[in-house]
Amino acid sequence: MARTDFTPNRFSDLDLICAHAGQGSGDGSPLVTPLVQSTTYCRDGIESTAPHAYSRVSNPTVAALEATLGRLESAPPGVCFGTGLGAETALFLALLRAGDHAVCGRAVYGGTTRLFEKILEPLGVSCTFVDATNPAVVAAAVRPNTRLIFIETPANPTLELTDIRAIARIAKTAGALLAVDNTFLTPVLQQPLELGADITVSSTTKFIEGHSAALGGVIVSRNETVLERVRFIRKCTGGIIAPFNAWLTLQGLKTLPIRLRTQSDNTARIAAWLADRPEVTGVNYPGLESFPQADLAAAQHRGHHGAVLSFDFAAGDRFARAFVTGLTHCRLVEHVGSVETLITHPASMTHADLTPDQRRAVGISDGLVRLSVGLEDFRTIIADFETAFADAAVSCGLGREGAGRCLANA
Ligand SMILES: *Cc1c(COP(=O)(O)O)cnc(C)c1O
Repeated sequence: MARTDFTPNRFSDLDLICAHAGQGSGDGSPLVTPLVQSTTYCRDGIESTAPHAYSRVSNPTVAALEATLGRLESAPPGVCFGTGLGAETALFLALLRAGDHAVCGRAVYGGTTRLFEKILEPLGVSCTFVDATNPAVVAAAVRPNTRLIFIETPANPTLELTDIRAIARIAKTAGALLAVDNTFLTPVLQQPLELGADITVSSTTKFIEGHSAALGGVIVSRNETVLERVRFIRKCTGGIIAPFNAWLTLQGLKTLPIRLRTQSDNTARIAAWLADRPEVTGVNYPGLESFPQADLAAAQHRGHHGAVLSFDFAAGDRFARAFVTGLTHCRLVEHVGSVETLITHPASMTHADLTPDQRRAVGISDGLVRLSVGLEDFRTIIADFETAFADAAVSCGLGREGAGRCLANA
C-alpha cells in the first residue's frame, strides 16, 4: 500500500492516520516504529545515497513522526524540533531578515511574544502586535516589508478566535506568509492549511504527545521552499527532536482523536456547569452557545472545540488563588493538553511576566483561571470544583455560600 500517496479529507481518515502512526508496511515489518537512537549511519562508499547520514539532520524515528504529522494536514513531511519554541525560532530565522517586518496576534503564547521582542527585534526584525480577532486591524498593520503574519487561534488563555480564512486573504494580498499556531486544537480539530494558511506551527508537547512525557514542536507546510529553509536552519542550528521523544510522540498520536473528542466533550459539560455558577462572571469556551464567536468556531473547528477553557471569578485574585490551590483532582501546573485535568492561574503563573496593564490589554484579569480538561469523568471534576468553591469562599471570609454574594461587592 502506497501510504505516502494517501490524502486525508475526512474525519475517519485522520483517525486512521493517527492510529497507524509510524507503521511500516510489508512482510515482517514491526507494528510499532522502531526507536533508532544511533547518532550516525554507516555508508557503503563515499557516494552513498543512504537516506540518513547524521541524526542532527535526519533520523528514521523522527522521519516517521514527520511523515505522520504532514499527512494529517495533506502536506509533505513536517519538520520536527526539540520544543515548540525551537520550531518557532527556526521558522522565524528561515523567513525573516534584518529590515523585515512581521505582524503578530497580541494574544499568542507568551514565549512567542518574548521571542519576537527579545531575540528578533535586536536582530533588526520589527514586529507589530495587533488584535488579530479583527481582520481590519491586521490589514492596517501590514507594511511593504511585512513578510510574515503570525496568529494563534484559539488564543491562550482567553480562547478568542481569529478568522484564519480572512487573515489568509490579507496575507496573500500583502505578499506575506501566514503561520498559525495550532497547538490547542491540533490538525484533528482545525486544519489551518485547508483554511488558507501557509504554515502550521505546533507544540507537540501539548495535546499531540498528550501525556506530559516529551517536549517537541513541528512546522508543517505545503510550500516546499519554506520546508527546505526550515530544514536548513535546523541543520545549521541543531534543534531536531530527540529520537526517543519522537517515538513517545508517535505513541501519543495514536490516541489523539479519541482523546481530543472525549476531552472536548468533558470540557463542554464543565463549561455549561460553570456558566450557571454565581461565583463565575464569564466562561470562555468556543463550544458554548453564548460564546461571542460561536459562528466562527462552527465554521473553523472540526466538530469539537478543544479541551481548554477559562473563567473569571467575580471575587478576583484572592478567590482564584484559594480555588486553584484547594482542588484535589486538578493539578496546578503551567501546561495544557495532558490526559489529566490541569489548572493554571495565568496572572500569577504563565503571564506573571506581564504588567497588570499588559495583562488587562489581552483580557487576563487577576481572577481568571485556565483549565485544560483531561480524561477523568467530568462529574469528578465538577465535584472537585464544588468543594473548592465552598472552601475558597470560607478562606476569603465569604462564608460557605458567600462567593456568589460577593459579586455585589466586586
Ligand atoms: C507550549 C506552547 C508553545 C511552546 O511550546 P514548547 O514545546 O513548550 O516550546 C507554543 N505555542 C503554544 C500555544 C503553546 O501552548
